[in-house]
Amino acid sequence: MAEIYLLALCLQALVAPWLYLLGYEVLGHLNLVCLLAYTLALRLHRRLWVALALGVKLSAFLSLLIYGASVVGSGSSIVYCLLFAEVELMLSDLRRRTKLLLTAGLALLALGVEDLPGLNSLPLGPRDHLLANIVLVAVFAMLCMVILRMLTITDRHEYRYRRDAMHDSLTLVLNRRAIFEKASAYWRQQTPFAMILVDADHFKEINDNFGHTAGDAVLHHLAGVLSDALRGEDDVGRVGGEEFLLLLPETGIAEAVTVAERIRVRLARRPCQFSGQLMPVTLSMGIACADEGGHLQSIIELADRRLYAAKSAGRNQVVSEGHVESASSRNAGRLSRGVQDALESEGL
Ligand code: GH3
Ligand code: MG
Ligand code: MG
Repeated sequence: MAEIYLLALCLQALVAPWLYLLGYEVLGHLNLVCLLAYTLALRLHRRLWVALALGVKLSAFLSLLIYGASVVGSGSSIVYCLLFAEVELMLSDLRRRTKLLLTAGLALLALGVEDLPGLNSLPLGPRDHLLANIVLVAVFAMLCMVILRMLTITDRHEYRYRRDAMHDSLTLVLNRRAIFEKASAYWRQQTPFAMILVDADHFKEINDNFGHTAGDAVLHHLAGVLSDALRGEDDVGRVGGEEFLLLLPETGIAEAVTVAERIRVRLARRPCQFSGQLMPVTLSMGIACADEGGHLQSIIELADRRLYAAKSAGRNQVVSEGHVESASSRNAGRLSRGVQDALESEGL
């Protein structure tokens, strides 16, 4: 939107010398006032006073327009300019209802301008006059509707692109980037949280025994079980092939363990079914809390070491204690590939 302000500023600046050259001095002065008003509007817009900025800009523009039309005596040119103002209004960040109200105001203004004596070179009969007014209102209404529709479509696409950029296409949970960004945000805002790092046990065997498509179905099922077990404020993200990270804000270790055990029990009760065949899978989990380390990276590494402890202890279990003292450098080589990649790519 700021670009539109700058564009309008440049256009006005281009017109100004011509007004002086052609002898329209007052119009030239008014043009300069307009330039000042646009600069002020741009500053207001940057401070997010959007409605005030648009008000200042449109008032200056309309004053110049109405005075210009009275000097030059052309009603149709002012209507063109009002249509331009309508486009700008529709592209602004105002609410839809405000836009509709202001559109009605601009259309009324255009009708009034059409009716001003002395502005129209061709006097019209009452029937033609009525038709001209109907056409004018229709043009404003069409312009308004077309741009509103265009904005709706753009918003929908933007929403889809954002959603796709943040979600894993197979499991539909958050992707690695999105879940680690969430963790970083909690860390920056000093929101206490627990994280549960989840890895499916012997997942390779599922692919080997039932095929990759069946493996995909199991991953999709796993993501569903994980999501269903969480509260609305919790998040689940896929951080590697068969690895997931759960983030539970305002949660301590004990509560996180309860959630993790609930997930294990639910998965045992609700195994994935693919092509009429049951494909049971178990999970190993490592839990860590935000207050267990001085950096986000050390919390993630701690959860990862506990996950490996769960694997080493026989899999299908939750580990939430110990391994704090392990030097991260000594254990770096043992970090799972998903977590290792994520730490590197997210610059953690
Ligand atoms: P562990 O219990 O030690 O974790 O053994 P694992 O077999 O689960 O672990 P490993 O790392 O050996 O194998 C992970 C497997 O996950 C190998 C890989 O083919 C599979 N995998 C990774 N991403 C996907 C995917 O998107 N779809 C499918 N079907 N399989 C995947
Ligand atoms: Mg793994
Ligand atoms: Mg695994």
